[in-house]
Amino acid sequence: MLNIVIFGAPGSGKGTQSERIVAKYGVNHISTGDVLRAQIKAGTELGMTAKGYIDQGQLLPDELIIDILAQTLDGFKDSKGVIFDGFPRTIAQAEALKKMLAERGQEVSIMLDLDVPEDELMTRLIKRGQESGRADDNEETIKKRLVVYHSQTSPLIDWYKNDGKYQHINGLGTMEGIFAEIAEAIDKI
Ligand code: ADP
Repeated sequence: MLNIVIFGAPGSGKGTQSERIVAKYGVNHISTGDVLRAQIKAGTELGMTAKGYIDQGQLLPDELIIDILAQTLDGFKDSKGVIFDGFPRTIAQAEALKKMLAERGQEVSIMLDLDVPEDELMTRLIKRGQESGRADDNEETIKKRLVVYHSQTSPLIDWYKNDGKYQHINGLGTMEGIFAEIAEAIDKI
């Protein structure tokens, strides 16, 4: 089982690289952001709750997101493994993931930290907002998301280092170049 956590600040390229990992390794993909956006689009109660947090650049409560993750995970049958994209984003979520996988006799194989400088993140997200119309990709909300990333999410770097799963990836360069570094790291597991 190949259980990959793809990690990085908003705009670091997690979604793009996840698609390539799925294509090469045949793992299932969970993007918590995509799940939430689908719920918003479908107008569900969860979607309405999620929208309130997302528009403010804040994280959803841990219990809620952990629940969604457990349900999605249970939906995968005969899986070769999973790429976790946008989860975990807090220490509590990382601990929950560890427990969830342990209950299934599994563990995280590797955590890939896509490292991109802040000015580049801002440029990419503003561009994505203009092209996709994603409501949270505007300058004010992006700034809030980056603050949240630094305060609540980046502590996971040390958490995964302590867990022996951390792998730094240079997130600047061509998509192919970045993927080559990722594939090299995965092939070494
Ligand atoms: P990005 O990585 O570009 O910020 P995502 O699509 O991963 O975008 O997430 C968009 C928003 O969805 C986040 O800003 C947050 O509000 C919410 N969200 C996604 N994943 C989580 C999570 N694991 N925990 C809490 N909130 C989340």
